Amino acid sequence: MREFKELRITGLNKYYGNKKVVDNFNLTIKNGEFVTLLGPSGSGKSTVLNCIAGLIPIDGGSIYIDDECLDDGKNFVPPEKRNFGMVFQNYALFPHLSVFDNVAFGLRLRKLPKEVIKEKVISALRMVHLEEHVNKYPRQLSGGEQQRVALARCIVMEPRVMLLDEPLSNLDALLRIEMRYELKALHERLKITTIYVTHDQQEALALSDRIVVLNKGKIQQIGTPEEIYSYPSNLFVANFLGFRN
Ligand code: ADP
Ligand code: MG
Repeated sequence: MREFKELRITGLNKYYGNKKVVDNFNLTIKNGEFVTLLGPSGSGKSTVLNCIAGLIPIDGGSIYIDDECLDDGKNFVPPEKRNFGMVFQNYALFPHLSVFDNVAFGLRLRKLPKEVIKEKVISALRMVHLEEHVNKYPRQLSGGEQQRVALARCIVMEPRVMLLDEPLSNLDALLRIEMRYELKALHERLKITTIYVTHDQQEALALSDRIVVLNKGKIQQIGTPEEIYSYPSNLFVANFLGFRN
């Protein structure tokens, strides 16, 4: 299910009214890669992610997985058929369901046998260190724990691609750093292709195989953390990363 070579976004454009908020976005992501979209608020990060998820229509360009067209303005694979997992800043857990039932929800829709569901849910919760909390409800958990449930609910579905939109930005500073390491460890273990959105430079540098720096809907630079850090390609990148004034 997860096997593919690359996710390819070509010439992606998006307008809101007359305003072009994504301008000719091109990016190819290899299977297993962790790529971060980094930029200030309003630079178009969430819009790009939502286009990749299929949650909003595109106004030009195309999105492919190998030779499977997900969207080119004519052909369109709906979000629920892409097998992409999403985690947002506001981890929308079901408040009336236990941790177990929150994580099991999608598997039940797939009508898997009860025993299989149990095994997968426990294994996913173990990966995010929440196995002792299976019977709790979201309100009984801290912000960090709730966000871990949201991650477990995503990975349990074995998505082809994980799309994470500022998943740590509601957490306090210390927890953000701790979760950064957990995310990194999780990715090293599962190798799920990940597109991560953040405005936090340190987070991007710590987590990513490659970083895409965005400003006003335009790609400023694509590179490894080392390349971006050592060789910012223009003044915007240098200033945004805070290495020069
Ligand atoms: P980021 O995630 O980098 O903060 P967004 O992708 O949310 O940026 O927004 C990019 C630009 O598009 C911003 O100027 C924002 O105001 C605009 N925008 C986003 N969503 C909408 C919308 N639904 N309607 C109109 N404008 C929008
Ligand atoms: Mg955003």
